[in-house]
Amino acid sequence: MSAGRVLILGLGPGDAALRTPQSTAALAEATDLVGYGPYLDRVAAAPHVVRHPSDNREELSRARHALSLAEAGRVVAVVSSGDAGVFAMASAVFEAVEAGDPAWRRLDIAVCPGISAMLAVAARVGAPLGGDHCAISLSDNLKPWPLVLQRVRAAAGAGFVMAFYNPLSRARPWQLGQVLSELRTLLPGDVPVVFATAATRPEERITVTTLAEADPALADMRTLVLVGSRETRAIAREDAAPWVYTRRDARTR
Ligand code: SAH
Repeated sequence: MSAGRVLILGLGPGDAALRTPQSTAALAEATDLVGYGPYLDRVAAAPHVVRHPSDNREELSRARHALSLAEAGRVVAVVSSGDAGVFAMASAVFEAVEAGDPAWRRLDIAVCPGISAMLAVAARVGAPLGGDHCAISLSDNLKPWPLVLQRVRAAAGAGFVMAFYNPLSRARPWQLGQVLSELRTLLPGDVPVVFATAATRPEERITVTTLAEADPALADMRTLVLVGSRETRAIAREDAAPWVYTRRDARTR
């Protein structure tokens, strides 16, 4: 029978040093690479390795394709950026397994953890995730916009530091602006906000500002936006951007 496998892995945020050795080893075993084209471009592979690049929105068909290849005996690396389990391909693969051919449940499927954007960004600015925090995707491709707003309000109301993935897209340039306006009604204006674009890559751009001054124009599709809580502090420095950290203690309000 086939010795096909599915190796689901994240490439990390960009810097090659932030790709885990386990993910690198998984890539070295793969006969096939499946993923969004620009992510596959970040992978150097031997000439015999078959690349199956696809468009960003085709996650489920991409996942089924990977499972079919593994069923035929291939060793398939399913590649995401950051961590494959955070707004990425790992869930799509399991969704396809649950709804698909029962034979897929017998496949050897392994998930390798990766460094997600929010962890990389947090490390670049200090320790903003040191207290309770959450991650919210602002994309409304897979959920209705009112639900996004409901979750943002609940998280802000409960005092979580929030990491916003997919802050805006070409089709929906207004999403982040609406979220920031909403947050200004719920949180003090001096709460630190971090815009980190292409963190850990050569073109990295990081801006530390406040909720009152946060300008959605600082974000694009490669940006992670971190909005602090009442326990989040910015430590000013003379010749450098402030450190941002969140106190570990918090009070009820
Ligand atoms: N699986 C990925 C997230 C995919 S969703 C992870 O764990 O990081 C895509 C979103 O991730 C982008 O819109 C952006 O918000 C964020 N992102 C990914 N890489 C990033 C980077 N290097 N710097 C800042 N944000 C990044």
